[in-house]
Amino acid sequence: MSRIDIATTLRQPAELVAHGLARADDLPDLEKVASRYAVALTPDIAALIDRNDPDDPIARQFIPTPAELVTGPGERADPIGDQAHSPVAAIVHRYPDRVLFKLVHVCAVYCRFCFRREMVGPGKDSALSEDAYRRALDYIRDHPEIWEVILTGGDPLMLSPRRLAEIMTDLAGIEHVRIVRLHTRVPVAEPNRVSADLVAALKVAGATTWVALHANHARELTMGARAACARMIDAGIPMVSQSVLLRGVNDDSATLETLMRAFVECRIKPYYLHHGDLAPGTAHLRTTLERGQELIRALRGRVSGLCQPDYVVDIPGGHGKSQAGPNYVAPANSYSDDRDRSQEKRYYITDYCGDVHLYPPEP
Ligand code: SF4
Repeated sequence: MSRIDIATTLRQPAELVAHGLARADDLPDLEKVASRYAVALTPDIAALIDRNDPDDPIARQFIPTPAELVTGPGERADPIGDQAHSPVAAIVHRYPDRVLFKLVHVCAVYCRFCFRREMVGPGKDSALSEDAYRRALDYIRDHPEIWEVILTGGDPLMLSPRRLAEIMTDLAGIEHVRIVRLHTRVPVAEPNRVSADLVAALKVAGATTWVALHANHARELTMGARAACARMIDAGIPMVSQSVLLRGVNDDSATLETLMRAFVECRIKPYYLHHGDLAPGTAHLRTTLERGQELIRALRGRVSGLCQPDYVVDIPGGHGKSQAGPNYVAPANSYSDDRDRSQEKRYYITDYCGDVHLYPPEP
């Protein structure tokens, strides 16, 4: 394995070429990609990439390719429809009891499949002004139905511990906000950033903090990443996972199984497996819903319930998430008359081996 040892984050296509991470012939196209979608590869992530493997699953997630210049049918700048549910800057209020609060537009690394790729990165939206921040807090304060605030972006763990502590205190000071959830890739992309000060900033009286870790391949869960997560969990912060189903990264049952088992071993409950969103220039990384369902069926047969994520797809246009996993229960009878047959209803239920059973069974 030929690994890369670098001291600072790589952001320019020419640097990727110089380190043997991209082809010199592709440089003009990669410059075009980078002018539209941010590029960043931290030393921790670069160290995971095997330069000798043209299909390296870590490289596929972070190294830009000319394929990103092609916007496929159905792909769109705002694939999950955040804008349609944004009553004030930085807030997305799609479901009644929770809001997204987009505090920053930068991340430690930039994923090539990012669903907010048109919005994140240096020079995209400017940082949230103090006025806009206050207006967002006022919105949350004025809506007592908001039980949970999800800090996302960008990556909220890019903020300083001092700023995070202020934000957590502001949110916990709103009586109806009981849960603050942070979505982050920092523990895998830059584990040392999860310092004792940062962990302390996440804990606040008056609200419960949850952290959702984004990782897509078990190799991302290095000793450093595991230690970063353990610092949060040991401090009493529960963690869940979210992963994206990606072609050539984790779209086979053994890789998914290893990833889900690794999460559980780290005390991180698998939560979401997202179907790839219709972000522009990402078709080469998406699979089909049919393939996703096959993988979920395979996972159901092989690993404990603790290791099962929900396979979900965000419906384009802002209609929210839907469960996308296979159906295991189907009605066994259909009737043409209106008579109440609720006591007679029977179903076909598929077991984890794929065998179908009648429920209730024949007497
Ligand atoms: S960490 Fe999240 S927001 Fe940032 S580039 Fe990756 S997917 Fe996008």
